[in-house]
Amino acid sequence: MSLLVIGTLALDKVETPYEARDEALGGSATFFCFAASNFHQVGLVGVIGDDFPMGEIAKLEAHGVDTRGVEKAAGKTFRWAGRYEADWNTRTTLDTQLGVFENWMPTVPDEMTNARFVFLANAAPAVQSAALDQCENPEFVMLDTMNLWIDIARDELLALIRRVDGIVLNDEEARMLTGQRNLIKAARAVLALGPKYVILKKGEHGAFLVGKDVHFSLPAYPVDNVVDPTGAGDSFAGGFMGYISAARNTDPLTLKRAMLYGTVTASFCVQGFSVEELVRHDRGRVEARFNELLSITSF
Ligand code: AMP
Repeated sequence: MSLLVIGTLALDKVETPYEARDEALGGSATFFCFAASNFHQVGLVGVIGDDFPMGEIAKLEAHGVDTRGVEKAAGKTFRWAGRYEADWNTRTTLDTQLGVFENWMPTVPDEMTNARFVFLANAAPAVQSAALDQCENPEFVMLDTMNLWIDIARDELLALIRRVDGIVLNDEEARMLTGQRNLIKAARAVLALGPKYVILKKGEHGAFLVGKDVHFSLPAYPVDNVVDPTGAGDSFAGGFMGYISAARNTDPLTLKRAMLYGTVTASFCVQGFSVEELVRHDRGRVEARFNELLSITSF
């Protein structure tokens, strides 16, 4: 197993200015898996309740995701509800119900503990570090988090940040974590916390990657029919990690290419509700958009 993800499998309630959906498949690890599996096989560690539609697990498996690390526990699946404003960049979390996630501690199956690339998708820092403890010497660990954990579990999160190679944050999270308004200063402040790389996502305005040996900025792939941005960040991470895991390389050029693959993968995610478009997209469509993005950004 090369690539491992630990995170949430969820049922989401999403309101956009145009449409609302309830009980839609979501979760940080779910989006990541559909995105990354286009590039490389992924092992998934997470927990579901007894109300989780098992057909969704079959869908993940059909995409080549190894779901042996998905535990089924008595109780309700993690649920999240959110609303988007018309600018798409403003999202309000309306409700988070941890359900079976509340008292869950991950067990990484023996076959997956030797994963070379590990993505700690958005989850409680205690869960993320318990999973990382079980991994044997991974080559590259990337961490995601969110405002909730920065707020209620800051010390645990800071301890975890010292142990990872890279961290992905959106602009709001970076400001909240570092207290810096300017994003370049915020990126530097994040690097001072320990990781070698930080990726700052700015929604429809793109993302940039900063590290000792690399500084790279990229606009988003232009999409004229945004339907639901939920999971865009996790899909970005899936494209990014899936690509470097398949390349088995983290040199600056590979990381820059991975930024393009992450960006393109996220662009498919936002064009459908939940994982609808991610389920449909394939490597051929990804490559076509990769080339388009390359031509848009080169001169
Ligand atoms: P993104 O839009 O990339 O931030 O990801 C949204 C997904 O993250 C949704 O499908 C949610 O179910 C999931 N999610 C929301 N809040 C949390 C949380 N506190 N911890 C883990 N996953 C979450």
